[in-house]
Amino acid sequence: MNRPRPLVHHILIIHLALLSAGAVAAIVKTDYQAFAEKIARLGLTENYAYSLLGKLTGVGPRLTGSPQAAAAVELMRQEMLDLGLDDVHLEPTVVGRWIRGDVEEGRLVSSLLGTIPLSICALGGSIATPEDGVQAGVLEIESFEELRSLGAKARGKIVFFNRPMDPTRIDTFQAYGEAAEQRVSGAVEAAKAGGVAALVRSLTFGESDFPHTGLMKYSPEAARLPSAAISTRGANILSLSLKSDPALVVYLRTSCANLSPVTSYNVVGEIQGTEKPDEIILLGAHLDSWDLGEGAHDDGAGCAHVIEALRLLKLAGIRPKRTVRGVLFMDEEFGGTGGRDYARSERRKDERHLAAMESDRGGFLPVGFGVGGGEAVQRKVQKWHPLLQPLGIYWIGPGGGGVDISPLAESGTVLMGIVPDSQRYFDAHHGSQDVLASVHPRELELGAIATAILGFLLAQEGI
Ligand SMILES: [Zn+2]
Repeated sequence: MNRPRPLVHHILIIHLALLSAGAVAAIVKTDYQAFAEKIARLGLTENYAYSLLGKLTGVGPRLTGSPQAAAAVELMRQEMLDLGLDDVHLEPTVVGRWIRGDVEEGRLVSSLLGTIPLSICALGGSIATPEDGVQAGVLEIESFEELRSLGAKARGKIVFFNRPMDPTRIDTFQAYGEAAEQRVSGAVEAAKAGGVAALVRSLTFGESDFPHTGLMKYSPEAARLPSAAISTRGANILSLSLKSDPALVVYLRTSCANLSPVTSYNVVGEIQGTEKPDEIILLGAHLDSWDLGEGAHDDGAGCAHVIEALRLLKLAGIRPKRTVRGVLFMDEEFGGTGGRDYARSERRKDERHLAAMESDRGGFLPVGFGVGGGEAVQRKVQKWHPLLQPLGIYWIGPGGGGVDISPLAESGTVLMGIVPDSQRYFDAHHGSQDVLASVHPRELELGAIATAILGFLLAQEGI
């Protein structure tokens, strides 16, 4: 087959023939610089990542196992085919399915304060309340230790977990990580203490009336309690009201349900490497989302980063030495089955994943890259910083990983991750504000450009 010779490759051969070894290093850098500038120009001219995100969010929220998630799988497969990617295919994964149902009601009822509506939503995986709801007194706590120390006081109560995300953390993901146990394990802890339901302060900063959902888990050792998130404004009202009237009750009613598992898919497409096609640089994101918004930042933006990065590489007319593969994982939010099934698939037998880069921190302005694999690896990637700096990337340091790509670490894959500015991420995260309009086209595109550049460098230079 007569394939046009890649531009960078071509220039390199000429220079290698003419120059000493020391000068070659400088030329390599110059060529990469021209490549990086070209990718940035192409990306910023078209802003294709945003159009793609518009198509994806257009199918509706992509809750794992839902008809919308299935539609998104087919849409992204078609997109990869239309872009002319290599080996476009689906890889099956059996996922749990949970539906929210039509009913979500919350209110506090006080003989002193009257009845006040509370903005609540069921947490993902929760059972419903009984059909006519749960009404009970409320025990407010800030930590599991506090709950355990209160002995029988939680018996028959709705346990209200109200520890806010720590606003002094500059890294908002750290604040999220520190508070998320309330959402994930609140129902189990409430059940062990004899409670009748778990009500969890939404994991977001500031005060708003939008509840934020997310995964909660049950344990075989504890009763299964209905579990819901309350908006931060609702949580503040409830907390204040409890101070004036500790005898108030809260009424909760939800109609969510866990259904039978269904087969869904990871969507895979790539640009095959010219020299080492079995060595893979994986660009990953997750296709599923929560259901209150459109999953625009979480993680439609990541999917747009991945596909746009591959499109830009193709558009630039450059074939990488190693394979650059895009994987849109299914079920990151509801169990991580897509990531696990990808890593252990038979298809991986003759492949070697050198590096995997996950984008699952939103579509805001990219400011850094987290890199795993130790100091030597980090130093190598840091050498490429001058090529990424013009985009606004100001640091490359320890980090990387994520639910989808972590299962690859076992086989020695270096895990990485793009790090966008995180200050606004939790305004939208898992809530009704996570819609297309909350993503800025140029910020999103810069993430895709940075992903394309780093992906290509890894494919050429290895790690
Ligand atoms: Zn996510």
